[in-house]
Amino acid sequence: MRKIKIDIDYAKCTTPENCMKCLNICQPEVLLLTFEDEDYHNPKDWKIFPIFPSLCTNCGLCVELCPEKAISVKYNLKKLKKIRV
Ligand code: SF4
Ligand code: SF4
Repeated sequence: MRKIKIDIDYAKCTTPENCMKCLNICQPEVLLLTFEDEDYHNPKDWKIFPIFPSLCTNCGLCVELCPEKAISVKYNLKKLKKIRV
């Protein structure tokens, strides 16, 4: 199970190619603007994906800066407890 869970609400993040605030602020480069199975020539099909969640430091800057409140970053506390024991 992953220690960090990063969720993007795509109903709120509708034009990531014009924003990219989360992507630009994330120093470990956890996030990427890319496409799923759609036509990559069409920016409307691009989405922000957390491609390297294990690199996330939970700094919270992406959550803070997102103008649409579209990102949530959560630690799996059970997993953290197990690590500490
Ligand atoms: S919480 Fe910080 S490290 Fe994690 S994805 Fe957001 S900006 Fe990047
Ligand atoms: S900051 Fe928010 S609205 Fe902007 S690209 Fe990232 S998730 Fe989308």
